Parts: sequence; structure tokens; C-alpha cells
Amino acid sequence: MITFYPGPSKVYDEVGQYLQEAFDSGVISANHRSSAFMQMLENAIGNLKTKLNVPVDYEVYFVSSATECWEIIAENLISDGSLHIYNGAFGEKWMEYTQKLTSIARSFSFETNEEPVLNAKINLSANDIICITHNETSNGTALPSEFLNTLRAQFGNIIAVDATSSMAGVELLWQSADVWYASVQKCFGLPAGMGVMIVSPKAVERAIAIGNRSHYNSLLFIRDNFLKFQTPYTPNTLGIYLMDKVMQQVSPIETVAQQTLERAQNWYSFLPKNGYQILVENESVRSKTVVAVKDTKERIALIKKAALQEGIVLGNGYGKDKETSFRIANFPAITDVEIQRLKNFLVSFSSK
Ligand SMILES: *Cc1c(COP(=O)(O)O)cnc(C)c1O
Repeated sequence: MITFYPGPSKVYDEVGQYLQEAFDSGVISANHRSSAFMQMLENAIGNLKTKLNVPVDYEVYFVSSATECWEIIAENLISDGSLHIYNGAFGEKWMEYTQKLTSIARSFSFETNEEPVLNAKINLSANDIICITHNETSNGTALPSEFLNTLRAQFGNIIAVDATSSMAGVELLWQSADVWYASVQKCFGLPAGMGVMIVSPKAVERAIAIGNRSHYNSLLFIRDNFLKFQTPYTPNTLGIYLMDKVMQQVSPIETVAQQTLERAQNWYSFLPKNGYQILVENESVRSKTVVAVKDTKERIALIKKAALQEGIVLGNGYGKDKETSFRIANFPAITDVEIQRLKNFLVSFSSK
């Protein structure tokens, strides 16, 4: 069975071997205050920062999920308000979650085929946090690469970015935002069960100013621990071990991103040529890591079923396009051979 599900998604082929090595090394039986664990955590963070080109002064924390980051941001960085800029289900959920916790979340939504255009109507006060989804996994859109730089130049606010389905697959303009987060079961090619949160010095300053220490996942408490290469609670030791191994293994992000780009361009020309309609018409907002294909409800169900019979799992649609689309993950752990198998299937299905 091969999977193109955009999360949880295919893990790197080497993960099987790393699991055995983790067991043999004994570190997954070690106490999380032991030096063996702390060394491993330090290595994992170091390798991640090197391979993904994270600025030296940005800090990396491992948490439990991207969803947890919504809560960490709401409780630790939002004091006056938050502006959520989104065009799909994940951005909307982030806004709704924040609203439940803070009651001061505001929305700026835009259409699938548009780039967000922030005009003068947006009234931001200095302490408002801008919350934006880099890659909207639900509909296969992404922000054009220059957008975050423009946003950064336009506003002095803290910017938090959900990069759950793009981090480790494409290059991110780290300096153009203050908080970046992802879950490991997407472009990292790792088993589900961990989140990655990357914060700028400015975000740390804001967390200190707000001073929330009343939750086990308070940003300041997490930080106190991570500065010592420890964690506030007993962590996902195996997940951290695998992160360390995979970050050693992967090519630098420029190389990975180039492959992602080429494969994406390839999907976007292959699909229409073979009678499939891309959900996102505007090429400049198409995601490089999640490709969404649109069709009638009946045909979507047929394609998914036929694929499954060939041992191929396609991603279901998500949110409002749940039944009228399927999604193809274009994540780095997927191999060329697997992509070719899916293409062969799609060619033969469309000729039926
Ligand atoms: C998958 C995803 C999430 C949620 O990730 P969890 O690991 O379930 O917390 C959030 N945002 C985006 C954009 C996603 O793709």
C-alpha cells in the first residue's frame, strides 16, 4: 500500500531502520532528565536548524502538535487581539479555537483563487498578532513566497504562521515572521505525535511581557526547559530520536525545496493533460506540497475506490470540498517510483 494522504502521510523509508536503532540504543528507555536524552534533544534541534536554515537566534521547541500551538499562541502571545487571515478550513479552525480562548479574535477571509490583499480597512493595534496559514492543506493553496515579506514590511506586528504542511518541504522566509509551527506527520516524513514550534526573539519578548505561567504548556515554561535541553513534561522521546535521525539524513532545504517544486510543476501539468481538473485555478496561489483535484462527488468516490484497489491511498477532500475533491501529498518522503505508480493509475483511470 502506498499513501498520498496529506497527513498523516508516508514516513521516510529509513524510519523502519531508525526504529530498530532507537530500541537498540537504549535511549528510548532513558529518563528524560538524563544526559543521554539531553544530548539527543540538543542534536535534534541542531540538525533541524542546520538543515532547514533556521536563523541562529530563533528557538526551536518540540510540542505535541500543531493544534497545541494554536493554544500556546492564544494563551501566551495574544493580549489585545488577533487577526486571522485565511481562505480554508485550517485557518478558520485556528481562528475559532483562538476565539474560544481569548474572545478577541478577528477574521480576514479571502477566496481560494485570490491572494490576500490587506487594505487600509484593517485596523491593527500594535499588540495585535497576525495569524496566517502558509499552506492551506484543505484546499491546496499557499501564500505566494513574497507575501510574508510584504506583510512584514507593512506591519510591525508579531506574525504567527501555520506552516504545518510546508515546513521541511519548501523554503520558508523565517525572518518574515515570529512564530512558525508544524506537525511532524506532514513534510517531515515522520510518524504522527509531535509538533515543532520555532520562535523569534521578538516573540519570546512578548511572551515574557505577558508572563503567562499558569499552564503546563506555557511558552515560558517550555522555554525554560528547552534552554537546558529538557522538556516540561515527559516527551515523545521516540519522536525526538526519529527527528534527529531524519534531520541528519535529509538534504539541505534548498535541495529538498527544488525537488518539491519540480514535482509540483510536474503534477500541475500532468493532471490537466490527463483530464483532471485542479481545484485551484490561479497558478500563483497553488500549493507546492498539497495538490487538490476537483470533480463530481460520484467521480471522486470512484477514483478513490479504484486507487485503493491498486494499493494507492489518495487523500480525501477536506472542509467544504470534502466530497468534491481528492488531495495528493507532494511531500519529500514520497519516492519517484511511487509517484510514477500513481501517474500510471491516473492515466489508466481517465481512459476508462
Ligand atoms: C494538519 C494540519 C494541522 C493540524 O495538525 P495536528 O497535528 O493535527 O495538530 C493544522 N494546520 C494545518 C495547515 C494542517 O495541515
